[in-house]
Amino acid sequence: MEKLFREDLKYFKPYKVGKENYKIKLDANESFIKYPKEIEKEILNAVQNTMFNRYPDEMSRDLRKLYGEYIGADEDNIIVGNGSDELIQIITNTFLDKGDKAAMVMPDFSMYDIYTEIARGSMVKIPLDDEFNIDIQNLIDTVNKEKCKILFLSNPNNPIGRIIKREDIIKIIENCNSIVVIDEAYMEFYGDSIIDKCNCYKNLIVLRTCSKALGAAAIRLGFLIANIELVEEILKVKPPFNVNALTQNVGSVLLKDKDFIIKNVNKIIEEREYLYKELRKIKEFKVYKSYANFILIETKNSDKINDFLIKKGIKLRSFKEGRLKNFLRITVGTREENNIVLSKIRNF
Ligand SMILES: *Cc1c(COP(=O)(O)O)cnc(C)c1O
Repeated sequence: MEKLFREDLKYFKPYKVGKENYKIKLDANESFIKYPKEIEKEILNAVQNTMFNRYPDEMSRDLRKLYGEYIGADEDNIIVGNGSDELIQIITNTFLDKGDKAAMVMPDFSMYDIYTEIARGSMVKIPLDDEFNIDIQNLIDTVNKEKCKILFLSNPNNPIGRIIKREDIIKIIENCNSIVVIDEAYMEFYGDSIIDKCNCYKNLIVLRTCSKALGAAAIRLGFLIANIELVEEILKVKPPFNVNALTQNVGSVLLKDKDFIIKNVNKIIEEREYLYKELRKIKEFKVYKSYANFILIETKNSDKINDFLIKKGIKLRSFKEGRLKNFLRITVGTREENNIVLSKIRNF
């Protein structure tokens, strides 16, 4: 059989998360907010009204309109994906020929690298400095010198929680000869989106998701925003029925109540600041300021703390190797969850 497999995937590993049950799960940057009864009822209605025998709307028209209203963009500039994860893959498949290069900073979101390799491209990894700062000029020079076709940047960055200032984002877009993908998965927690510039730049693509601030990771719903020329090109590659009807109908319910979303975001930010303040009191920790819904911690004892917490039923994200060895990333939980984790860490 093996001779029929792709040679270049030989040492790839399937992306597996595992299905263990933890009492407190703070490893995946999910929202801690549960939908109230009224919204749950509307969701059930949406499910009931789904026509199961019919194919879904291939262009997710209702969702594009609603999301456009939510972010202040025109629906014609929006493509909907089965999570923004799928949109990353659609982007690599649209722009990369075999052997083409893409670029990312390190550390950043690992899926950029994985989908680039699967598209038979290669990833140029640009390291951040000791304090995780980006040298903007060096980034631009590297992208252009290496002739990268795509630059991926998450803003705020996962896993650091850092932001890139608007003027720097604009400098990058204006000076890179590549497509620039700004992945705004956590933008609600920061606020200074670059979506308003999508029609000003030929090479800008913005990604957003319902998995983080909207608390809907389960339904797999992501959005791409770009100028019409890029949208038309990317649509050639998008699978026609990539977003199923259940997700479209439920997503429409969730996007209608903007005040509810804003209220939840504010609640999460409040908890983030509490957790940040408390973590900073722990002498052995270096705690990074975050503009997302998680906090990155550097500590020599990261592995031991992680093992200790797992035994107590608490799951954080631990990084075992490379630049992030000795780091833990903790998703902001409820006040109760945060306090339990803090007290266990203090016990340790
Ligand atoms: C979580 C995350 C995503 C994935 O979002 P989905 O819409 O759930 O696929 C994309 N980019 C970054 C930086 C993320 O942290």
